[in-house]
Amino acid sequence: MEDIENCIFCRIVRREIDSKVLLHDDHITAFDDINPVAPIHVLIVPNRHFGSLGDLQKGEESLLGMMVQTGYRLAKQLGVEKSGFRLVINNGPEAGQSVDHLHFHLIGGRRLGWPPG
Ligand code: AMP
Repeated sequence: MEDIENCIFCRIVRREIDSKVLLHDDHITAFDDINPVAPIHVLIVPNRHFGSLGDLQKGEESLLGMMVQTGYRLAKQLGVEKSGFRLVINNGPEAGQSVDHLHFHLIGGRRLGWPPG
C-alpha cells in the first residue's frame, strides 16, 4: 500500500507543500522542478497517485495522453516548442526514478545531449 499521505507529489497536488504550480486541472498538476537541470524543467504529474507506469490499469492509458498533451502545451507556452524539448519518464531505479509518483519531466531551454548519461 503506497503512502499517499506522505508522497511529496501528492502533497504538492493537495497544495500542502509550496511549489511553483504552472497548471492544475481535474487530472493533472504541473510545477517547476525544485532542482532544475535546464532553464526549463517542469514536472507533469497525475493528481491521482500512481507509483510508476506499471501501476496504470487497463483503461487508464488516456491519462498518459493528457500528460503528453499538457507537456506539449506547456512547451509552447514556455517558448521551446520550436527550439526543442524533451518529455521524459524515469521509470524505476536504473532509470533514476527518485520520487515514486508517476511524472513526466519537461526539459528545455538548452541543447540536450544524447544518449542521456
Ligand atoms: P525522478 O528522479 O525522475 O523521480 O524525478 C523526481 C524529480 O522531483 C527530481 O528532478 C527532483 O528535483 C524533483 N523534486 C523533488 N522534490 C521536489 C519538490 N518538493 N518540488 C519540486 N520538485 C521536486
